[in-house]
Amino acid sequence: MTELNAGRALRAAIGGLLGPGRVLDPPAASYTHDATLARGLRGRLDAVVLPQSADEVTRAVAWCYEHDVPIIPRGGGTGLAGGAVPLDGGVVLGLERLRAVRSFDPLVWRIAVEAGMPTADLRRRARENGLYYPPDPGAAESSQIGGNIATNAGGPHAFKYGVTGAWVTGLEVVLPPGELVTFGGAIRKDAAGYDLKRLVIGSEGTLGVITAAWLRLIPAPEAEFPVVAVYPDVATGAAVVAEILGSGLQPATLEYLDGGALAAAAAGRPFAAPPPAGFTVIVEADGSADEATRLRQELVGVLIGGRPLALHAPTEAAAVADLWRWRERVSPAVTARRGGKLGEDIVVPVDRLAEAITETLEIGARHELETCSWGHAGDGNLHSTFMISPDRPDELARAEHAALELFALATRLGGSISGEHGIGVVKAGHLRNTWSEPATLLHERVRAAFDPKRLMNPGKKRP
Ligand SMILES: Cc1cc2nc3c(=O)[nH]c(=O)nc-3n(C[C@H](O)[C@H](O)[C@H](O)COP(=O)(O)OP(=O)(O)OC[C@H]3O[C@@H](n4cnc5c(N)ncnc54)[C@H](O)[C@@H]3O)c2cc1C
Repeated sequence: MTELNAGRALRAAIGGLLGPGRVLDPPAASYTHDATLARGLRGRLDAVVLPQSADEVTRAVAWCYEHDVPIIPRGGGTGLAGGAVPLDGGVVLGLERLRAVRSFDPLVWRIAVEAGMPTADLRRRARENGLYYPPDPGAAESSQIGGNIATNAGGPHAFKYGVTGAWVTGLEVVLPPGELVTFGGAIRKDAAGYDLKRLVIGSEGTLGVITAAWLRLIPAPEAEFPVVAVYPDVATGAAVVAEILGSGLQPATLEYLDGGALAAAAAGRPFAAPPPAGFTVIVEADGSADEATRLRQELVGVLIGGRPLALHAPTEAAAVADLWRWRERVSPAVTARRGGKLGEDIVVPVDRLAEAITETLEIGARHELETCSWGHAGDGNLHSTFMISPDRPDELARAEHAALELFALATRLGGSISGEHGIGVVKAGHLRNTWSEPATLLHERVRAAFDPKRLMNPGKKRP
């Protein structure tokens, strides 16, 4: 049978199983890529299946497992590691139609939602009820809770509040060969068996399909006051970051942009950045109005001690929202600079941040690539990025070599090759350079225990 006919037969079979409208025919091309399209990654699929319930997900997985068809779970397709890209055919299982709130109990700070709920919808729903769901990955309007859990996504507020996994108390997951199970639930503690839900968090679709999650919430902070300070160079700015960490103050965010990232995101920037703006710090004070006001003053004191070129400290809600909206646009603005980019997300011990930022620039210069970084300074997490032109394959090739040096840099500094985007396909095979052999073997044995046929998102998260 030709590939085309095999795809048609597969679509007809799953369509017959799940009913009308569940299988896209023909499959839309947008499901062959995710946000790594900016580095030219595009795959091939046989079918796009959009189930409407956890039961339909279970039946689709069971059918695929029985017929040896690869299953590629997909959330909002905003991933930056190529995790949702189908590499060589199979079924892309989109969760976008599972977006219901299963239960919401504001008085006990708890919500259970289906996996396809957009991250921003969940955050809004919590806020409308005086509650707060802190994880705030940059593409929150498009990414989904299931995708956030599958990548253990971070974001600026992870500095104070932790990454997505810290907010998950339970998961409903379809496991191979097609069984709907729950790990944990509406409970805040669980020391019973092995923490299986933790294995699924960050598993990038390789262990099962998340269909719903129980999430913890907290009372929303009454006030949130960001402060931006611009410094002339990396050394001065990184010293201020260290000063803030050592001060004992607890900002909700501790973000940075180097000079190249700031220049790329110049459009719509809501603050002044006089030259030679080489390093920008963004902190946020939150809490009750009194607490946030006091913390803001103390943070401003530390930031001014570093002799900034400019300081911006909005307090009006609209100006605060403007600032974070601009911050969310940094990644697309860097992409727009040359039409494409190869971005990595290494993480290093926070006291090695300045070295990592400086060496990122040196690596880019050695490969003759326009380079910048920005990210979550307080977590030591850099989005080290090489800007490339999509019609220059030589630039992509040089950027890929440069990325290998970044991974080596992260390892040498005692860090990891991914802080929040995951391994996906773009970093597949590089884990074994950082992890010991027994650790990588155990990683594979865990995978085999969940998915003996290796049909769940094949080619992804390989050590
Ligand atoms: C502009 C921009 C800014 C970003 N900023 C951040 C940031 O600040 N912090 C951060 O961490 N990330 C960031 N990201 C990356 C991305 O948004 C996150 O990785 C996000 O969690 C991906 O969610 P998604 O729903 O789009 O998942 P997808 O891209 O669809 O999938 C990601 C991975 O999860 C798996 N998956 C998806 N849904 C499920 C499911 N229900 N069950 C099992 N597996 C599943 C997929 O197979 C894939 O391996 C950014 C991306 C962009 C484009």
